[in-house]
Amino acid sequence: MNVLKQHARKQKATRFLLIVSSLLLGVTVIAQALLFVSIVDHIFLKGAQFEEVIPDLISLLFVLVARSALTYWNGRAGVKMASRVKEHFRSQLVSKFSKNPLQASMRGQSGHKVSTVMDAVDEIDGYFSQYIPQVIQTSIVPIMILVVVSMEHFYSGLIMMITAPFIPLFYIIIGIMTKKKSEEQLDKMAIFSGRFLDTLQGLTTLKLFGRARYQKELIEGSSLDFRDATMEVLKIAFVSSLMLELISMLSIGLIALEIGLRLVLFQSITFSTAFFVLILAPEFYLFLKNLGQAFHTGRGSAGAAQKISDVLNTEDHPVQWGNDSIQNQEEPPSIRLEGVHFSYEAEGFALKDINITLPPYSQTAIVGKSGSGKTTLLHVLAGLVPVSEGSILVDGHKRSELKEEEWFDQISYISQSPYLFSGTIADNIAVGKKEEVSREAIEKAAEKAGIAPLVKSLEHGYDTPVGEGGRGLSGGEKQRLAIARAFLKQPTIILFDEPTTGLDLQTEKILQTSIQELSQNATVITVAHRLHTIKHADQILYMEDGRVLEQGTHTNLIEANPHYRNMVRTQQGGMAT
Ligand code: ADP
Ligand code: MG
Repeated sequence: MNVLKQHARKQKATRFLLIVSSLLLGVTVIAQALLFVSIVDHIFLKGAQFEEVIPDLISLLFVLVARSALTYWNGRAGVKMASRVKEHFRSQLVSKFSKNPLQASMRGQSGHKVSTVMDAVDEIDGYFSQYIPQVIQTSIVPIMILVVVSMEHFYSGLIMMITAPFIPLFYIIIGIMTKKKSEEQLDKMAIFSGRFLDTLQGLTTLKLFGRARYQKELIEGSSLDFRDATMEVLKIAFVSSLMLELISMLSIGLIALEIGLRLVLFQSITFSTAFFVLILAPEFYLFLKNLGQAFHTGRGSAGAAQKISDVLNTEDHPVQWGNDSIQNQEEPPSIRLEGVHFSYEAEGFALKDINITLPPYSQTAIVGKSGSGKTTLLHVLAGLVPVSEGSILVDGHKRSELKEEEWFDQISYISQSPYLFSGTIADNIAVGKKEEVSREAIEKAAEKAGIAPLVKSLEHGYDTPVGEGGRGLSGGEKQRLAIARAFLKQPTIILFDEPTTGLDLQTEKILQTSIQELSQNATVITVAHRLHTIKHADQILYMEDGRVLEQGTHTNLIEANPHYRNMVRTQQGGMAT
């Protein structure tokens, strides 16, 4: 609960207002009881006329309205406090995930992350919207009641004082029991939603491979697990509210008995005192009981907060960036990689000892078997993953000392499956540019990228929604959209992961001419599968098992390297000469 407490402490103003409103609430509770007693006393015991109690009735109405207003205000303040804290946690999580987007998304289950951002953060709500306001209320109002009752009739106050501690004692015990359970429940929930989202995303693949039924069983299993964990928590919650109810009923009964005996048998107190105590006693326990329930919620929040801070505290190895500016933003820099190493995990695939030079305006083709590390090398070049050894020099300066933003301003990365944001096609092209762009510029970029005819054939044209919840686009269409982004951006470095599958001739032609046009002002590095790209490259990097085994021009490599010769022959259907 420590994380939550820290945040609660920061909300000083709200807490002060909550204290003031709780004091006022206590006043209304007591005033309400006084007015009730006075009205009943006047009418039934003193036989007063209705007119005589009208002022009291009006005051009572006023007090009741004030009490509701204060209760409402308390709730509102809590909810506001909760939404501020949730906003804080969400933005921390998002920036945590986005600091290292590639590694965050590589580390599996995006469903699990959605669950942390959405559900766990929502679970925190209760701590601020209910628990804290209730703690403040309960540490003020019942004490006010206790003081007033004790002054009126000491023995009733004494009974309250003796029985009251049982309620907090009881929920401390429950709290300890539920903390573990609610953490468990959240775990199950995360597993469930993770599995569900990931299954949805991979549904086509699963169907194709006849794995849909198996996944269905997995989902069913984890949904049942989640249900059981939830029921477990609810069971404790229900039993605990029953117990709390019981304790407070017994205590009220005790007070009633004591007062009744004194009033009827010994006639040692007046009716109005007895009635006053009897009205306030249930209020007293009501506040304590509410705290009990809020405590339960607060405990659940503590479990969720733990989850979130665990996520926030997992160590990342983000790409290092500095403060230096890139010298000339208009022209491509020269890029050198010296002894660069990179590995996804401690063991497993690694890029080893990469030494390459990419002069300004040069065209480089990366070739090699599938799995040899071509895409990984593009990620390293783009600055999406950190190098573990060696350095990347940009115009002779270490890239790690450049400003992150300036570097990314210079590059366009056209991956094999560019990401579509949920939005219209126009929105998706416009992300290429940081500034506002006109519809005209968007259409021009789309024209150049060869995606305009497709867009025009759609009913809503550039306003067609794509991405999550929108129309799907094929891999090639997405790449053309990414190229349109690049036309808007005018980068000086272009990284392009060519599609592996054979494209139709027309699409190939479009990709080829648009990349060619972009390359007028840029250095281009292409993971190449097409012979045309390979042949026209200034240099070719031939990769095998994470190493650049050979570099040179097409003619060089054909002569020098039999593997390369073979690869070009077989992959390109013997077109190589
Ligand atoms: P290529 O593009 O040449 O086909 P990649 O660079 O995509 O090859 O992948 C090279 C190797 O790195 C493969 O063995 C692949 O399994 C591994 N790899 C790719 N992405 C990850 C990742 N996120 N975590 C761990 N290993 C990965
Ligand atoms: Mg690849």
